Amino acid sequence: MQQNEKNKGNTLKVDQRLLQAIPNVDKCLLRLLELPELEDVPVVVVKNSVRDVLARLRADILAGAEVKATSLELEELVPVLTDRIRQEMRPRFRRVVNATGVIIHTNLGRSVLPAETAQVLAEAGTRYSNLEFDLETGQRGSRYSLVEKLLCDLTGAEAALVVNNNAAAVLIVLETLARGREVVVSRGQLVEIGGSFRIPDVMERSGARLVEVGATNRTHPRDYERAVTEETALLLKVHCSNFKVIGFTREVSLEELVALGAALNIPVMEDLGSGCFVDLSRFGLEKEPTVQEVVASGVDVVTFSGDKLLGGPQAGIILGRKDIIARIRKNPVNRAMRIDKFTLAALESILRLYLDENTACATIPTLAMIGEPVESVRKRARRLAKRLRSRIRDCNVAVKETVSRVGGGAMPEQNLPSCAVELQPGTMTVNRLESLLRQLDVPVIGRIEDDRFLLDMRTVARD
Ligand SMILES: *Cc1c(COP(=O)(O)O)cnc(C)c1O
Repeated sequence: MQQNEKNKGNTLKVDQRLLQAIPNVDKCLLRLLELPELEDVPVVVVKNSVRDVLARLRADILAGAEVKATSLELEELVPVLTDRIRQEMRPRFRRVVNATGVIIHTNLGRSVLPAETAQVLAEAGTRYSNLEFDLETGQRGSRYSLVEKLLCDLTGAEAALVVNNNAAAVLIVLETLARGREVVVSRGQLVEIGGSFRIPDVMERSGARLVEVGATNRTHPRDYERAVTEETALLLKVHCSNFKVIGFTREVSLEELVALGAALNIPVMEDLGSGCFVDLSRFGLEKEPTVQEVVASGVDVVTFSGDKLLGGPQAGIILGRKDIIARIRKNPVNRAMRIDKFTLAALESILRLYLDENTACATIPTLAMIGEPVESVRKRARRLAKRLRSRIRDCNVAVKETVSRVGGGAMPEQNLPSCAVELQPGTMTVNRLESLLRQLDVPVIGRIEDDRFLLDMRTVARD
C-alpha cells in the first residue's frame, strides 16, 4: 500500500512535466498545414491524425512508458504526424501479393478474376445498364434472367437462381422447402466451414428441424429410409469440403439418395460447397463430381459458391427443378439476398469463359493456377530468386520445392507440387522479415517454415 502511494506520487510528478510538454492540437495543425506535401490532404484527416497521435502520447506517459521530453518538441513530432497522416490516407482495402501457395485463400479475397472481367466491372459501375430492364419488350425485367440461361446451358439444370453467397443459398433453400418441417442429413456431413457456417446452425435459423442419421463414419440408405416421416421435407447431402473421413466408412452416394427420394417422393438437395464445372483430374487432382454430373444425377436442387473452384465473384448459385427454383425466387427472403450488378456482371463474364473449357482453364486465374505445371512455377521462382540475390544482402536466397493447396475448403487432402523462393535472413529474425514484407505498400504475404520465409510462386502472378 505504502509502496503504491509512493509510486503514484513519483509518477504523477513526472507525468505533469511531460504532459505539459505535449504541444496542443492547434499548434501542430498550423505547422502541418504549412507543409506542401500535405496540401492535398483533407483538413479533417490532418486534425484527426494529430488528435490520435497526441492522445497516444498522453496515454503512454500516463502508463509510465519512457518518453523523452525532446521527442515532444513540435519539430520532432512533425515526421511522426506526417507518417500517421500518410497511413490514414492509404486505403484500408488494398491489394496484396499472395505468396502463401493457397489458391482459394478466404482471408486474401478467395478467387481473383481475370483481367477481362475488370473492364466489365468498370462499365457496370460507371454506366447505366439493363439490370432490370427487358430490352426486347421495353418492360421491367429480372436481373436473374441475365445469367440463368447461361447457367442452365452450362450445367444442364432446368432453372437457376443466384444469391449473395453459398451460405445464403443453403439458408434460402432450407427456408423455402423445409421451414417447420424435417430435413434428414447424415451425421458425417454436419460440417463447419471456416468462419461460423455450421450446417446445424443454418438449419435452425431456416426454421427446419434437423434429423441426423447414421454414425460419424458410416451411413446407409436404410438409415435415411427409417428416418423419413410425414414431416420430412428434404433429404440433404452436404459436401465434406474441408475434411475427410478415412478408414471404415460408408457414405450414401448421391445416386442412392436420388433413388430414395424418388421412391419416397421427397426432394433431394446437395450443398456442393465448392462447385466446379471442370473435371480437375485433367490436372492430376483426385476426381470430384462436376456440377454437370451432380445435376445429371437427378438431384432436385444443388447449391455452390461462385468464388471457390468456379473462380468467379462471391455468389451462391442455386440450380434445380423449375418449380423449386420458382418457389425460392418468390420467397421474400430472396430480396434480402439478391446480388448486385457488379456480381452479376462478373459472374456473366466468368460463365461465358466456361462455354469453352480450354478457354476457362487458361483464363480463369483459379483454374490457371491449379493447372500450371510445376516447371513453369519453378521458372518464376528462379527468376525472382536471381533478382533478389542481386538486390539484397545479408539474406540467403534459395529456390525450394514445396506444395501448394487448393484452399477454400476444397480438396483438403490434395497437394499441388510447387516451387518457392526461400529467404533466410542473416541477422534479423524470420518473424521480423515476415512483418516487414507484410507492411510494404503492396504487402507480401508468405509463410514461415523451418525458420525460413517461403514465397510460394504458384499463387504469385508473373507481374
Ligand atoms: C464454402 C461452403 C459453404 C459456404 O459458402 P460461401 O460461399 O462461403 O458462403 C457452404 N457449404 C459448403 C459445403 C461449403 O464448402
